[in-house]
Amino acid sequence: MTAAWVVGHEDGKHILLPCGEVVYQDAEILYVGHGFAGEVDERIDCGRSLIAPGFIDLDALSDLDTTVLSFDNHPAWRKGRVWPKSYMDAGPYEMYTPDELVFQKAHAFAQLIRNGVTTALPIASLFYREWGETVEEFEGAAGAAAELGLRVYLGPAYRTGNSYVEPDGRIDLFFDEPRGLKGLDDAIAFCGRMDGRHRGLVRTMLAPDRIETCTAELLRRTAAAGRELGVPVRLHCSQSEFERQTVSRLHGMTSIEWLESLGFLTDRTLLPHGTHVSPSRLAPGPGRDLEIIAESGAVVVHCPLVAGRFGNGLESFATYRARGIRIGLGTDTSPPDMLLNMQIGLMTCRLAEGNATACRAEDYFDAATLGGADALGRTDLGRLAPGCRADLVVWDLANPDLGQIIDPIQTLMISASGRDARTVVIDGRTVMRDRQIPGVDHVSNAARAQRQFDDLMNKYPLRTFGHPPVEEIFSSTYRIVGKTVR
Ligand SMILES: [Zn+2]
Repeated sequence: MTAAWVVGHEDGKHILLPCGEVVYQDAEILYVGHGFAGEVDERIDCGRSLIAPGFIDLDALSDLDTTVLSFDNHPAWRKGRVWPKSYMDAGPYEMYTPDELVFQKAHAFAQLIRNGVTTALPIASLFYREWGETVEEFEGAAGAAAELGLRVYLGPAYRTGNSYVEPDGRIDLFFDEPRGLKGLDDAIAFCGRMDGRHRGLVRTMLAPDRIETCTAELLRRTAAAGRELGVPVRLHCSQSEFERQTVSRLHGMTSIEWLESLGFLTDRTLLPHGTHVSPSRLAPGPGRDLEIIAESGAVVVHCPLVAGRFGNGLESFATYRARGIRIGLGTDTSPPDMLLNMQIGLMTCRLAEGNATACRAEDYFDAATLGGADALGRTDLGRLAPGCRADLVVWDLANPDLGQIIDPIQTLMISASGRDARTVVIDGRTVMRDRQIPGVDHVSNAARAQRQFDDLMNKYPLRTFGHPPVEEIFSSTYRIVGKTVR
């Protein structure tokens, strides 16, 4: 493949190759540079474009995102994001059918590819679930990923607890430890059975849901299993005020301090979202969270878009890096557009620091590629170099809407979006060509996704505090005049 620009790799750093060449055979890159001397079977000239390593998404949106429903609907506990006691007592149930669960993952995987993501660690909400994610749906997800050709790290989410809201509006936690430990056992068995499937395209991870819904025993056993299996362990923590208060009330320390005391943190631990670390504006106090994270080697999974929508963010990406913290990126919400996340991350970092030189385009490009690979311990991902996996994205620089092209990475960070990913190759297989994914009818899938999402929205009153009608749960921007057509 040749292109106006290629992101190559030398001495541990990305380099830019004007009129560069990438040669790969089967799943592996043979050559990146100028003037390949060997024979090739096929030449693909990508013209005015950038060939770059694919993005590694450590918190990859893998459902029909319901977080967007809270965009202008607050507080969460009145808007169907915390189960009312009445719903919990009646027995929570699965709001999607097994078919719908598999469809939404397959649809989300296709969307990730469409945004230039080549390695994904899926995340989905548990609000609409009976309890945790199931092994069966993840076996389905492995099949869907293999069919599409997306590189994934899979593990069903499990938990020992759940938050709920009492009739008087007080939020409390309900724990069922045996149920959570059974979820962990199932997840461990899943790792043993599925790791390395589909020629290594499918790998596994352990994914306890979020720290305030986990008991100490669940976290201890998870950490031990992670070490034994040698898989990444992802746990949402330091991400909300509710979590901060709950962990402090139950354990008398910050989330990070509690994880340290449990021996949970290792260099295979992935921590979305790391915004509410102490001390900071969001979590005042005498904490030493950043120090603990840096010393443990754990990775902060930075998801700037979802954080920004909730009015917060890392303070800051540059400060965390300066303190020696490893950082990877995640999309986490809709749209699953890594570029948009990088753009917003860069701006929120500069805002937090009050300084335009606090971070540069390449810092975020590194985090989305090399940072993710480092988090997974994969020196064969996140870069285009001989011996690495052929996971690459062709970014269209010929689109006149981009404006004038300057440095290609700076151009992506200034004016491109995920929709400018034209062709995607993963493990040497072209999984999207000219925005067409073989075997996927994107338009009809999007229509099906809309119907499924509408049905889910209509079920919100059942598990919303006080059971108000849908129109009261979700506000409209302006007064609606006439009948809505969905
Ligand atoms: Zn997340």
